Amino acid sequence: MGKREQLYEGKAKKVFATGSADYVIVSYKDDATAFDGTKKGRISGKGVVNNRMSNFLMSLLEKAGIPTHFVEELSEREALVRRVSIVPLEVIVRNISAGSFAKRFGVEEGIVFDRPTIEFSYKNDELHDPMINEYHALALGLATEDEIETIKSMAFKINDILKEYFLGLGIKLVDFKLEFGRTSDGEIVLADEISPDTCRFWDAKTNEKLDKDRFRRDLGGVEEAYSEMMRRVFGK
Ligand code: UDP
Repeated sequence: MGKREQLYEGKAKKVFATGSADYVIVSYKDDATAFDGTKKGRISGKGVVNNRMSNFLMSLLEKAGIPTHFVEELSEREALVRRVSIVPLEVIVRNISAGSFAKRFGVEEGIVFDRPTIEFSYKNDELHDPMINEYHALALGLATEDEIETIKSMAFKINDILKEYFLGLGIKLVDFKLEFGRTSDGEIVLADEISPDTCRFWDAKTNEKLDKDRFRRDLGGVEEAYSEMMRRVFGK
């Protein structure tokens, strides 16, 4: 399925049409943004890491029974995925306090929760992605009650699978953001990406940050962190 016209350009990816209405090609860029797009930069090689890692993790999840948009890796930076309409919710699962959770609730980072938490943000750039609860999402018609139940149960199952997988690589999965899409037949599938841009990864022994927080917080060693995550997952 060849690459046709560009349909969309986001902060970290471009999306292209294919010969089929049911599939699109995503192309991962090295551009990085943070803090609602106010901090901009480039992380050399990031697009390759995020494409390969996301494709690998989506395949792993598929094998565990989670439907995803992923179809096939096309190149270092490109993947063929099912075309979906994105449910305008960012779904955040947390195992350990960090980032906006620590700030909002006035607690330190690194508190290990007895049970994972889930929260939603309304994907809306003009409103700066405000936090939203399920009742608000229903009232706004962003998703149906059934869809929200499906999304929650998939998100927790994904957490169980990924948490165990990364622990095997000596990595704590602190928190992560998921996005879901509806296929043309109304099925809810995992979409977007799973990568160091969208997850917090801490080394299990040293708690060293191996994710986009190195860019957000100017910690240095940004490219090295992405390469290290690539090495842990692919062994090179
Ligand atoms: N996250 C994301 N995109 C966003 C907001 C958050 O991928 O627009 C991810 C982030 O990388 C982290 C998790 O979701 O793994 C929780 O982020 P948090 O709410 O703590 O926000 P942040 O501190 O990143 O602003």
